[in-house]
Amino acid sequence: MTREPSCCPVIVIGAGIIGLSIAVNLQRAGVPVVLMEADTAGSGASGGNAGHIAIEQVFPIADPGIIRQLPRMLVDPMGPLRLDWRYLARLMPWLVRLLANMRPARYAQIHRALLALNQHSLSAWQTFANQWELSRWIRIQGSLLVAENPASVPGLQQHGKRLNAMGISNAWLDARALREREPALADNQLGALFYPDTGHVINLDAMINHLRTRFMQMGGQLHEGCRVLQAERRDGHTVLLQTSSGQWCARHVVVCTGAFSRTLTRQLTGINVPLDTERGYHLMLPNETARLSIPVSSIDRRFIMTPMENGLRLAGTVEFAGLQAPPNMQRSRQLLQLAQPMLTARLDAANAVSWMGFRPSIADSLPVIDRHGPVLLAFGHQHLGLTQAAFTAELIQALYFNADTGVDMRPYRLHRF
Ligand SMILES: Cc1cc2nc3c(=O)[nH]c(=O)nc-3n(C[C@H](O)[C@H](O)[C@H](O)COP(=O)(O)OP(=O)(O)OC[C@H]3O[C@@H](n4cnc5c(N)ncnc54)[C@H](O)[C@@H]3O)c2cc1C
Repeated sequence: MTREPSCCPVIVIGAGIIGLSIAVNLQRAGVPVVLMEADTAGSGASGGNAGHIAIEQVFPIADPGIIRQLPRMLVDPMGPLRLDWRYLARLMPWLVRLLANMRPARYAQIHRALLALNQHSLSAWQTFANQWELSRWIRIQGSLLVAENPASVPGLQQHGKRLNAMGISNAWLDARALREREPALADNQLGALFYPDTGHVINLDAMINHLRTRFMQMGGQLHEGCRVLQAERRDGHTVLLQTSSGQWCARHVVVCTGAFSRTLTRQLTGINVPLDTERGYHLMLPNETARLSIPVSSIDRRFIMTPMENGLRLAGTVEFAGLQAPPNMQRSRQLLQLAQPMLTARLDAANAVSWMGFRPSIADSLPVIDRHGPVLLAFGHQHLGLTQAAFTAELIQALYFNADTGVDMRPYRLHRF
């Protein structure tokens, strides 16, 4: 269908947790929003992630440690970090920028910019959850980062002290205290950092579906199965979109297409963002609803187990293989082998469900949250899109209304590229 483009006030493109949070907030603020989603709301990374509101993760993915692991990444298809060598040439420009961002001064800057977002993220989620009646799906009960290799313990304790010094509260639990906290963990877990001010979502699908319903109840228009194919700025003031459901005009668009945001951003701003994807996997164990009480991540095994109301979600791994290659679901099933030795009793893997999704990762580990005339941008939240969604929605709302965000926005600007 080709529609005569009468101009909508705002079109939000992409109904992941970022786009949906922005759409409900703007609609509530009195701005009529059209939300366009190529698939269904929450069908991307936002529905399959580990559900961890991880405000303690304030260091960039561009960590010098990654260089030492590169050779192994190329040869071990089941390692926690995997690079598909067929994708290496395409990834190279991104990798080069990632390496440049490991310089100590730049690393420290990125860390401060992540900290600035995460410092607001928990309170933003609490406000958002109250506003949208999401509390039944959100638990603010803390999380654990456990160690089982004796060599990891001093480093983890040091890490905890460093985080405490910057205001990210945590406490060291020795093996006994850890077992009292989470009796299902086996004796091989030597200790853990407990982060009290973190949370988790116990049912991402239900929470996303609730937001979707509330958006439409307020008069927001959701177009699922509507892919934006081409975007063009017409005069300084409007944007024309060619979509799989015809042509649309908007006075403002918000690009929230996660790992798929590169092309639309280039079409609308001329800027080529070094955005790639860190593919991640989960394995959902539907019969394991009562094993753990809070999320448990392992520093040695590099994955997370999150208790959800529809099962235990084992999630993690990073795979560089781009947006087109089919998933390797063996990586998902491998998560079971990682989890089992950490637990006292055998996991019930009957009816386990495998999933793969695309983390939207920019080479400097920071999102783009910005405005260029009629174009607003909110993508690239890498491992922290759920964590930072509610605060990103607040920032975009302030940018839309030309209000003060209360935050130094320079680190998240598009023009850093
Ligand atoms: C295994 C795994 C575990 C994770 N765990 C956590 C965690 O515990 N905590 C955390 O904070 N983060 C976590 N993340 C990261 C988090 O999931 C992402 O950062 C976040 O979901 C990004 O949200 P988004 O809305 O930007 O992207 P998405 O959820 O991917 O949404 C983008 C949407 O845009 C749509 N779209 C794309 N192109 C178009 C187009 N042209 N037209 C219309 N629509 C389009 C897509 O269909 C999609 O629905 C994890 C990620 C993975 C993969």
